[in-house]
Amino acid sequence: MDNIFNSLLKKYGKQGWWPLSKGFLYTKHHNGNPACDKDRFEIMVGAVLTQNTSWLNVEKAILNLNKAKLLDAGKIKKADVKKIASLIKPAGYYNQKAERLKIIAEYFLKNKNVFLKNAKELREELLKVKGIGNETADSIVLYAFEKPSFVVDAYTRRIFSRLRICNEKDKYEEIQSAFEKALPSDVSLFKEYHALIVEHAKRHCKKKPSCEGCVLRKKCAYCSSL
Ligand code: SF4
Repeated sequence: MDNIFNSLLKKYGKQGWWPLSKGFLYTKHHNGNPACDKDRFEIMVGAVLTQNTSWLNVEKAILNLNKAKLLDAGKIKKADVKKIASLIKPAGYYNQKAERLKIIAEYFLKNKNVFLKNAKELREELLKVKGIGNETADSIVLYAFEKPSFVVDAYTRRIFSRLRICNEKDKYEEIQSAFEKALPSDVSLFKEYHALIVEHAKRHCKKKPSCEGCVLRKKCAYCSSL
């Protein structure tokens, strides 16, 4: 797994995730480490909004919340759910996601001791929150609270099943465990690896892959079978 990471890093460079809307805009390369509670909450919001949609749509929704001065847990908690829904419309499923934002705002405000918990404890706690599944929980644990929990998304499944390291239908926890066993438990590495997987899936390993120029081509069983 680490040789794949090194190949992707060499090709695409550091991604610096999680993207934060500092200065009301997104830049391609940035320091995505949260510096304060506002940043942590913004990452939680992004992790919920990105469910079933592309990051570009999430950016539009987050910028709308930012312009309305609502990118804050206390303000989201008090805001009218219909107003939130109208602002996050670009991210889709906006009524459901507006309710989820209110729920995570409540969680964030009530649970100020999250830093005392380890990754597993925090993950299990988040999975009990309505609307938070495995990928969202791990994104929050890793990027918002900077604890080592590997994020598995559809891109991870696609690329690593093509490389025959997992099967596309494997359980989330099985794929996550394969990464966590093979890699040192390092927050920066987990963040960067996930971001590089996303980049590779967008540039080369799309649904219909563009294998020409792919740095993983020599290791790829799927490509050699084409
Ligand atoms: S060679 Fe093709 S299928 Fe294999 S990882 Fe690269 S882009 Fe994906």
